Amino acid sequence: MRVTDWLVPAAQAIEAWQDRFGPFTPHPSLDVADGDIEGALGRLTERLTDNYPFFHPRYAGQMLKPPHPAAVVGYLAAMLINPNNHALDGGPATAAMEKEVVADLARMLGLPQHLGHLTTSGTIANLEALFVARELHPGKAVAHSADAHYTHARMCHVLGVESVAVPTDSAGRIRLDELDRLLATGRIGTVVATAGTTGMGCLDEVHDIVPMARRHGVRVHVDAAYGGFFGLIADDSADGVAAAPFAAIGSADSVVIDPHKHGLQPYGCGAVLFADPAVGQLYSHDSPYTYFTSDELHLGEISLECSRSGAAAAALWLTTQVLPLTPDGLGAVLRPGRRAALDWVETMPRDVLQPFMAPELDIVGYVPAGTSLSQIDRVSAEVMDRAMHLPPDEAVFVATYAVRADQLRGLDFQPTADTDTVRILRSVMMKPESEGWTGRNLETLARLTREALSA
Ligand SMILES: *Cc1c(COP(=O)(O)O)cnc(C)c1O
Repeated sequence: MRVTDWLVPAAQAIEAWQDRFGPFTPHPSLDVADGDIEGALGRLTERLTDNYPFFHPRYAGQMLKPPHPAAVVGYLAAMLINPNNHALDGGPATAAMEKEVVADLARMLGLPQHLGHLTTSGTIANLEALFVARELHPGKAVAHSADAHYTHARMCHVLGVESVAVPTDSAGRIRLDELDRLLATGRIGTVVATAGTTGMGCLDEVHDIVPMARRHGVRVHVDAAYGGFFGLIADDSADGVAAAPFAAIGSADSVVIDPHKHGLQPYGCGAVLFADPAVGQLYSHDSPYTYFTSDELHLGEISLECSRSGAAAAALWLTTQVLPLTPDGLGAVLRPGRRAALDWVETMPRDVLQPFMAPELDIVGYVPAGTSLSQIDRVSAEVMDRAMHLPPDEAVFVATYAVRADQLRGLDFQPTADTDTVRILRSVMMKPESEGWTGRNLETLARLTREALSA
């Protein structure tokens, strides 16, 4: 489907509904001359051309890509009405759609029952989960890995809760021995397990963390903002991802997932889900428990945010109608990116580029084969810069990622450790089209790396 083919039918369908209410004259103060909008729109679209081409397979940098056309059309259709999912009568249809898509997410994540809603972002979704964690374990700290998203430390600060960063192992996972020791102190009320770190897509061992936390009477919150949708391909197959961490998400106390990351949605779509619907009481103390399991659930009563976009729910709903949350639906969109990441690491010319670690999802880190850490740092920055400044139809867009010197000990070559931190290269293979472009993209990057290393 092309977005240009479906925007007009979507707008016309909403106009047909509006026409049922009879004509009225729009106020002249809102009228804008066609020439004015034409000029302003021209300036807008011109200014937008300073973006990197997130849509193109030669963009293999950060976690950025355009939404699916279905999401754009769904968003536009609902946005023309502009329902507010704060209250049921602010948008009955989109509130119902929100409950349906959240139930779908719960099913995908394996939660036997749930209370949840969409949020503006993963940040707000995590804030809500940590708020509930604080209410249920007042005075106790939150533990997360050193590689967890910085939002956990920041939101704990907002909530007045102590946060403790637990070291990670060489695979980027929270160290279970360290965590067990920490939980034994009794200081911790909640552990955050990250199912797909934002940096390298590493999977904390949720399946080991849940029983460990239960032994200590501690809650488990899973931050699956980035990785959650990989549950659709968590089958231990050659082009799938590890099954065990995803199978355990359903036994956690709360989960965050970002449809605006791997759910093909525009920004403004995160989600938080709780395993126990009774936590709804913590948002609104005067409401009885039963209220939160009834069909008449009023989403504004269980959300820290008030006004929320009904259009975001419509966009996700329409997207999942055509690309359902199944291995053959959205799973088929994720698998090629996973293959691209594996292929990238497999075919990387080892004389110039070495993999940083084995990718667990679709994010790869790779290291120019420099003789010192300072050279690796300089070459990484130079390659990123030179690759993106090639002519537009040749340019390759990658990112850099700062790591500690000790994290590079596992490489085949031994650079002199002359700095404490070093930038390496990083690519997120978020688009299924990435798969067909690893060869071409790597060729360009290997050439530029060779040149920068010999300069
Ligand atoms: C992106 C991300 C967040 C923050 O979510 P936003 O939607 O950017 O606010 C939190 N945790 C993880 C693991 C993420 O990848």
